[in-house]
Amino acid sequence: MNAGIIELSYIFAAILFIYGLKMMSSPATARKGNFISFLGMLIAIVATFLYLPELAQTKLKNASNLHYDWIAYGMIAGTVIGVLAARLVGMTSMPEMVALLNGFGGISSLFVGWAVFQFDLIASKPDSVNTLTLITIFLSVLIGGVTFSGSLIAWAKLKEIIGGKPVSFPGQHIFNILLVVGAGTCATMIIQNPAGEMTLQLFLGAIGISVLLGIFAVIPIGGADMPVVISLMNSYSGLAACAAGFVVKNNILIVSGALVGASGVILTVIMCKAMNRSLSNVLFSGFGGASSGGKAVEGEAKPSSAQDAFYVLESASSVVFVPGYGLAVAQAQHVARELGELLEENGAEVSYAIHPVAGRMPGHMNVLLAEANVSYDQLIEMDDINPNIENVDVAIVVGANDVVNPAARDDETSPIYGMPIIDVDKARTVYVLKRGMGMGFAGIQNPLFFKENTRMIFGDAKGTLQSLVDEFKN
Ligand code: NDP
Repeated sequence: MNAGIIELSYIFAAILFIYGLKMMSSPATARKGNFISFLGMLIAIVATFLYLPELAQTKLKNASNLHYDWIAYGMIAGTVIGVLAARLVGMTSMPEMVALLNGFGGISSLFVGWAVFQFDLIASKPDSVNTLTLITIFLSVLIGGVTFSGSLIAWAKLKEIIGGKPVSFPGQHIFNILLVVGAGTCATMIIQNPAGEMTLQLFLGAIGISVLLGIFAVIPIGGADMPVVISLMNSYSGLAACAAGFVVKNNILIVSGALVGASGVILTVIMCKAMNRSLSNVLFSGFGGASSGGKAVEGEAKPSSAQDAFYVLESASSVVFVPGYGLAVAQAQHVARELGELLEENGAEVSYAIHPVAGRMPGHMNVLLAEANVSYDQLIEMDDINPNIENVDVAIVVGANDVVNPAARDDETSPIYGMPIIDVDKARTVYVLKRGMGMGFAGIQNPLFFKENTRMIFGDAKGTLQSLVDEFKN
């Protein structure tokens, strides 16, 4: 197959990836963006298949060494697992699934680097090997190893297979630095003497160290920060893939790896900003380990019922829903939309306030509300809703806690002080829908629940919203 056509296909695929990514930045175009990226990937896969015979001649020395059947088995297994996961994994488990996908991305790059190392160095026993190739092999293997084990730890923490609390020991950071130095030393020794007796052992040692580094870099980070870690691991998996692209000299792998790497870093920075934390604070502070901090909250929470809330809502002319993680747990998005429609029929102006880190992954609330067909122009970003919130008659907080905690704004001693919040406490009346007085992800008390204008409606959010819908219908 003409190499020019294959390269042109790769460029076209890369353009589709970039265009698709751009479209994913808005809920209104995200689905189309996903489809366009899928088309890009399809083109890249077909072009890579056409390139395989040439690769077999140059790399495998003989086209008969190319096993299409193995590739087919891999693709069938991957497709079956992917389709099942997409259908069966619940929306609340998406962060765990992304963690696993990042881990698989990391181990794939590790295997690519390892395979080329085995083939070019161990099997061929050359006296000299291109240093640049060796460096890219090491980058794909080391970053891939860290991504693999780090992502598995993040997955296990989110799944609560291991505790979410930070696990640290004295000298942990120095230990991690020693691991980096160890991996670097193995790599340098091989680069200096590729045909040495110990080459394979040193290489396996470097793999082992990278896997250990992933574990020891993630265990000291609290479960609450795992979504940020997952975003960072996403970026690492892209960098590992980019390095693997250099190893096998495949342009589309280099470009797509770089795109994943860059977008992962941007997302990580956005998440840190939304929590008013620095990346180093997330990675090294062990947030979530010590007990809460912050001023003690005084007063009593005032319980209310769906029936009481109905009378207030019936006369409200503006209502804002503020969804949080509890909306996802209760799967209350459809009934929230139904209540919103009934309120609109009743003459109220209805909107949905979106905090950038509500839920457990970026865009979590947008995805849930889009799934329930809430109109995009009713979704209002935190910065746009806050200046007008004093004019809102009723704010209905559906399973949100940390993202509406006024301590983040008012209490300098609070661990989340400085994190931007949705100022629901400034609305005329606030209804908080949650099961009890449970704390949010940050594990701290919320003074909102004790304010004069706040009423608590205890129970599963879906059930409470359904009771409100029933009140309106009757
Ligand atoms: P929170 O985790 O602060 O609070 C969720 C609340 O939902 C809980 O207090 C819980 O209270 C309630 N809840 C749970 N299940 C139900 C249910 N079935 N029905 C009703 N309520 C329920 O969520 P927020 O969305 O407010 O905040 C997100 C947190 O996650 C922030 O701390 C943020 O920094 C963090 N985070 C988010 C990231 C992201 O990308 N989105 C990334 C990193 C961190 P109760 O048990 O009493 O019902």
